[in-house]
Amino acid sequence: MIASVHAVTGAALGALTGNPAAAFVTGLVSHGVLDAVPHTDYQTTGPGVVDGLAGLLFLTWLALAQPGGGLAWAAFWGGLGGMLPDVEVAVAHLFFQGRMRHLYPSHTGLTPHRQVAPPLGIWTQAITFAVALALLIIRLA
Ligand SMILES: [Zn+2]
Repeated sequence: MIASVHAVTGAALGALTGNPAAAFVTGLVSHGVLDAVPHTDYQTTGPGVVDGLAGLLFLTWLALAQPGGGLAWAAFWGGLGGMLPDVEVAVAHLFFQGRMRHLYPSHTGLTPHRQVAPPLGIWTQAITFAVALALLIIRLA
């Protein structure tokens, strides 16, 4: 899935754990689960970079604004864990024309990374994003 969905879902799950370390691990694991859900990834680099920056901006806001008090740090670390695996994808595309060995299981082919054409692949991400954002707002309220 795209970076902003990984960020918001990781943040929501992280806030549910309430613990920064558990949140980070949960975020990392959630990345693989979300990659297994049929989705549409970017076909060009530009939108991916903008999306990644939007995710980082959102997590930075969580860290600085601290909605929900201490739970915001768990949300921050969960979101960071959720986004982190795609750094290798970004580095591969930006600096190695996609030819770089990956480490994360859903990027190596060890676990499923299901692609589906739009609009279905857009809907799966929009629904995931909306549910995760609702969970995060409820948890931090
Ligand atoms: Zn990924």
